[in-house]
Amino acid sequence: MKKKEFKAESKKLLDLMVNSIYTNKEIFLRELISNASDALDKLYYQSLTDTKIDRKKEDFAIWLEIDDKNRTLTVSDNGIGMTEEELENNLGTIAKSGSFDFKTEKEKKEEIDIIGQFGVGFYSAFMVSDKVEVISKAYGQTKAYKWVSEGADGYTITPCEKKDFGTDIILHIKKDDEDESYKEYLDSYKIQRMVKKYSDYIKYPIKMNVEHEHLKEGTKEEYETVTETESLNSMVPIWKKNKKEVTEEAYDDFYKSKFFDYEKPLKTISTYVEGMSTYHALLYIPSHAPYDFYSKEYEKGLELYSNGVLIMEKCSDLLPDYFAFVKGIVDSSDLSLNISREMLQKDRQLKNIAKNIEKKIKNELENMLEKDREKYEEFFKNFGMSLKFGAYNDFGLHKDELKDLLLFYSSKEKKLVTFKEYLSRMKEGQENIYYASGESIDKIDLLPQVENVKDKDYEVLYLTDYVDEFVLQVLMDYDGKKFLNVCDKDFDLDTKEEKEELEKTNKKYKDMFTLMKEDLKGEVEDVRFTHRLKNHPVCLTTEGEISNQMAKVMNAMPIDQKVSSKKIMEINEKHPIGEKLKTLYKKDKVAFKQYTEVLYAQARLIEGLSIENPTEISNIICDLLAK
Ligand code: ADP
Repeated sequence: MKKKEFKAESKKLLDLMVNSIYTNKEIFLRELISNASDALDKLYYQSLTDTKIDRKKEDFAIWLEIDDKNRTLTVSDNGIGMTEEELENNLGTIAKSGSFDFKTEKEKKEEIDIIGQFGVGFYSAFMVSDKVEVISKAYGQTKAYKWVSEGADGYTITPCEKKDFGTDIILHIKKDDEDESYKEYLDSYKIQRMVKKYSDYIKYPIKMNVEHEHLKEGTKEEYETVTETESLNSMVPIWKKNKKEVTEEAYDDFYKSKFFDYEKPLKTISTYVEGMSTYHALLYIPSHAPYDFYSKEYEKGLELYSNGVLIMEKCSDLLPDYFAFVKGIVDSSDLSLNISREMLQKDRQLKNIAKNIEKKIKNELENMLEKDREKYEEFFKNFGMSLKFGAYNDFGLHKDELKDLLLFYSSKEKKLVTFKEYLSRMKEGQENIYYASGESIDKIDLLPQVENVKDKDYEVLYLTDYVDEFVLQVLMDYDGKKFLNVCDKDFDLDTKEEKEELEKTNKKYKDMFTLMKEDLKGEVEDVRFTHRLKNHPVCLTTEGEISNQMAKVMNAMPIDQKVSSKKIMEINEKHPIGEKLKTLYKKDKVAFKQYTEVLYAQARLIEGLSIENPTEISNIICDLLAK
């Protein structure tokens, strides 16, 4: 019989399993039991409508069997089973094949992380076995098939006999070696403990023949060994258990295996609600964003159960987009099992549950922000963008719910702060919330416009995400305080007298500025002297709704129409360049034009904008240097 080869990426995964990268080998049993449970779910679900499946609910079960002599451990189920093709496709390839493709960005990132992303699954059997046999008969089929593999070099599939439909997985347990004792997986107590630890919530009974010592009838000291079939698991799903009875570790383990994450969650929320709607919810906030979270491929949603039976794997109606990062399970007896997707969307109960869940998540986040700041900042690093989008989308429909959850970097605190915190520190007489935007904290910190504001001891929020300014625009104000860009032309910290004086000077040099504007061929709306700069000679400010950063973001989008901010070039009158310009304007119009162009190019570069005529500008600079 010719061996078939595994698909490339399956082979890779198998290799990793055989060579046991996981120290926690015992999870193989959890993975196999979970597969068995899925197979039972499929058949059970079908039995609700298919009258040909004549089986009582309690007869859906999983069996474990230890054979000491032959060193085998068998996991059996009477679920849906697999056809020959399914054996080939499901076990010859990783179900979520292609997962390895996602490795590209961080080629070197440990493989284990990637495996964790989609669960270790069936192949984990090879961590403890040197040979695995799978005997399966699919529901509705007459023939059974046997899949056998001894590891990465291939597998065979042959017809075989099997009475009932379902699947037997026979593990030939490895021989003990120096580092590892595999014998323990043939130990009944060990197996019982493993089931309790990892698979207690499985809703089908996990049965095993267990030996007990009994006092022999009619005797006082003579014992006999009696074998009894026991159910090893309590069958109460973890989300239905009382919070107090479940350890944090159990919640974490459940999360990791259920949602294919190698890291434990940042936060677990377990809740039971009675009232208008009655439901259990077990929600998790992951500790990192999934690799596809900020892409179109990411599908939000919670697993939806009706009284312990899965009705939908990803019910997106249960989560608003801005909480799309939440993973979890909702189980309600108020929902009908046979409800269609379309009906479900309109279901009043479901809407009510969704509303409650949203409130719950929000409360938990607010709590975290207040009581565990470090954790919240960790959360915000991963999912803050999602909240920002939430505040911005739908023309700010949800801004009021979300604005207190937003954090921005503060020039004063040198860390992320809330608007509320900013307000509590505002200086007397300060009317607005000041902000500046740019590519990075460091770059903003160096902006000439920012220097002056910081110098006068004002706090400035630094916006570095491309959505930030759009968010503030939608928010409009916080608690009556409007947001003001320190690079806006209206931003002004001058006293009344200073303002008047500046206005006078600007009037006096009006003609000079007009010429500069002409020299710049419509690039700027205006040129003027300013007091907003301390040591720097020049800066750009903007007028109107669109700032330089916003224009940059909008122009990076794939739309035809380009937008541009209305720029104003402001020159520091107190800088020697001010005097120089005044002199040149009178004496040398050619040099004046050169100076103007260089100053404008400088201002653009400082703002993080590119210059369109770098060669020309560098030639001018060289000319001036050579003089
Ligand atoms: P996953 O369970 O994450 O899909 P696995 O590698 O564990 O990945 O299993 C691959 C596939 O093999 C499953 O999706 C399922 O279709 C099939 N399978 C595994 N075990 C069983 C079983 N006991 N009964 C029926 N099908 C099974």
